[in-house]
Amino acid sequence: MRSGRFDYSSIVKPIGDNIYNIDIPIPHDLKNFNLYVLLGKEPTLIDTGPYHPTLEEVVTGCLNYLGVDSLSRILITHSHMDHCGLAGRIAHITGAEVLAHELERERMEGGREHMAGEYERYASIAPSFGFPEEMLRQVFESMQPWLDLIKPCPLSSSLQGGELIPAGDYELEAIHTPGHTAGHLCYFERKRGLLFSGDHLMRSITPNPELYWPPRDGRITGLGQFIESLQLLKDYEISRAFPGHGRAIKQVARRIGFNLLHHERRLESTREAVMEGNSTVWEVAVKLFPQVPGQPPGVDYFLALKEALGHLVILEEAGAIARKDERDLFRFLPLTG
Ligand SMILES: [Zn+2]
Ligand SMILES: [Zn+2]
Repeated sequence: MRSGRFDYSSIVKPIGDNIYNIDIPIPHDLKNFNLYVLLGKEPTLIDTGPYHPTLEEVVTGCLNYLGVDSLSRILITHSHMDHCGLAGRIAHITGAEVLAHELERERMEGGREHMAGEYERYASIAPSFGFPEEMLRQVFESMQPWLDLIKPCPLSSSLQGGELIPAGDYELEAIHTPGHTAGHLCYFERKRGLLFSGDHLMRSITPNPELYWPPRDGRITGLGQFIESLQLLKDYEISRAFPGHGRAIKQVARRIGFNLLHHERRLESTREAVMEGNSTVWEVAVKLFPQVPGQPPGVDYFLALKEALGHLVILEEAGAIARKDERDLFRFLPLTG
């Protein structure tokens, strides 16, 4: 056991037979990162947290504390840096293979350069949202420090969903739950009904939908997929969900129902905003999130735009509002006639 400057007994928490939660507090709205370790024949880590030298010390210290010096594999829920930025380093140290959905490969392997390219592409869509491009550039400028939290991580092989993967003494089923990202995976232990839910299902927050730009398979938002992915979980007998942030969820069906209701309410607020004459993504975002304008440029602007876009697109696809673009500008209008 390694002794160091961290109190591992307060970070590493048993949550089942040979299953541990590494609960790392952070000074951020997300409050913490949850990693999970399944011990046994094939020691497995689910998610790693972002790249940071101190965090690397904490995670390797926690693994040592659990008596783990090598890992069979690291399972990644999705390609956001707070879940996989450290994966390459931990794989290097522990000899683990790294698995994630194929659709997450580009981001995981591309690291910083790929992410910077994504920011650039997203900034170019600002005029379509009726949002000043220069300001969206400032938003991404403010997010530049995040790029230090990613190290490229080659995948050993990729998943599609449906695979059964040995983990500790258990077997986990990869469930493809797209929406928050295109290749988000939850991992499900069927015998005990344990779901490792990443950012797809959390206890007190709902995740932001992915913006697909350029469009992916004709979609520009992941919100429709996200809602379908929530419905999909109803088919599984889940006794407890272990999310990427926040505490475990005991009443899983209730939480899924609550999240679906949350989006229905937001759809209604979005429809009302359009009826009142707000027609661009940004105008609707301001109605949904009145606290955002007036803030200095930061990620909240981007999150508000993505939320508004997602709900507008769902309403338009359902025939509840109309879309009439003016050149590059997306415009959403009440139905006439
Ligand atoms: Zn995420
Ligand atoms: Zn996250």
